[in-house]
Amino acid sequence: MEIVNITKSYDSSFVKQVEKESGQNMSLCYQCGNCTAGCPYTFVYDQPVNQIMRLVQAGQKETVLKSKSLWLCATCESCTTRCPNNIDVAHIMDVLRHMARREGYAPVPTVKSFWDSFLSSVEKNGRVFEIGLLVSYIAKTGRFWTDVDLGPKVLPKGKMHFKPPQIQGKEEVQKIFNRFKEESQK
Ligand code: SF4
Ligand code: SF4
Repeated sequence: MEIVNITKSYDSSFVKQVEKESGQNMSLCYQCGNCTAGCPYTFVYDQPVNQIMRLVQAGQKETVLKSKSLWLCATCESCTTRCPNNIDVAHIMDVLRHMARREGYAPVPTVKSFWDSFLSSVEKNGRVFEIGLLVSYIAKTGRFWTDVDLGPKVLPKGKMHFKPPQIQGKEEVQKIFNRFKEESQK
């Protein structure tokens, strides 16, 4: 287990920034552990979600932003549902992931590559174009054989299409992405 010296690396601006971006009061967390007890991904996390909360309270920016847990979180919101203090823990995980991304941390690069491919597919097509996503993900990661065994199962069911979807409102979706980019630069 990594030893964190909180007296040397306390960063109060990090705590304030997380609170500002998430709209949550970090000091309400009293470490009951309910969030971790309900989290389906604790078994793969390097820091359980209640420890992430504690590390944020302690202003441990680098330890938090380099945590693999941020990228393995499924955003299932069990933690939020179970918190006795009504803290939106899942939203805090989201905020931390965005911060990690902005600051150049990607401790699970394949997950980040998947996110990047997924989002650019939605931005371009208005919804995800599965085969395009697959090609982009493989190009970014070099993982040619990822889930190749699933191809024969999903193709006959018409779950994947060889052409991008033609949907209405594509431009509106692009405007959402543009607005997000503008707002996140402020
Ligand atoms: S949202 Fe993330 S941290 Fe919360 S319970 Fe689900 S997987 Fe765990
Ligand atoms: S459930 Fe809420 S109060 Fe309990 S450890 Fe998790 S965030 Fe803190």
